[in-house]
Amino acid sequence: MIIAIDGPAASGKGTLAKRLAAHYGLRHLDTGVIYRAVAYALMSRGADLKDEASAVSAAKSLDPRTFDDPALKSHQVGTAASVVSAIPAVRAALVEFQRQFASQPPGAVLDGRDIGTVICPNADVKIFVVADPKIRAERRTIEARGRGEAADEATILADILARDERDQNRPVAPLKPASDAYLLDNSHLDIEGGVRAAIDIVEAVRAGRREV
Ligand code: C5P
Repeated sequence: MIIAIDGPAASGKGTLAKRLAAHYGLRHLDTGVIYRAVAYALMSRGADLKDEASAVSAAKSLDPRTFDDPALKSHQVGTAASVVSAIPAVRAALVEFQRQFASQPPGAVLDGRDIGTVICPNADVKIFVVADPKIRAERRTIEARGRGEAADEATILADILARDERDQNRPVAPLKPASDAYLLDNSHLDIEGGVRAAIDIVEAVRAGRREV
């Protein structure tokens, strides 16, 4: 079974995807980490984030062993990731890695922006997670402070809105729900509530389509 979880920054889709994968015994790939790793590679060597040749070369030489680096989690790297991810050649360089991951048994949960629309258009279940931007900013601020980063909620909200705008309006693989995605509004759900809602969606799909 392949489950595609898409949605905007800080919607809670990452935790939800991880928990769904554990629940169904599937592998999990946080695809945002891939774009973060490309951005971080450029930042570390002082390269321009919009330099296509450097970004594509970083994308082609990605080492999945670096995906756990805590430095990738920062808000700043997330914002930089949304700049490099708008370069079509960078996205093209990363498609195969994601599809390969999804195709290995016993299946996987991938979370990102374009999983249901571009990477796995035939996913068995597609969930598009949304949440009020103010609530997302509040959650991100708490997380960032928890990591010891100095975080200002108003700045984070402005960054989240700018990131939504960039992710939704890029010409290639823009952030949008697939036509067959189920919408899950996570604004007023805690983690357990979100996981339960997602499992309900998967179970409803499985009940309707026996082969999943
Ligand atoms: O989800 P996360 O905050 O880690 O993603 C960082 C950025 O990477 C996003 O704002 C988006 O621009 C980009 N991204 C993407 N496609 C994905 C996952 C992330 O464009 N599948």
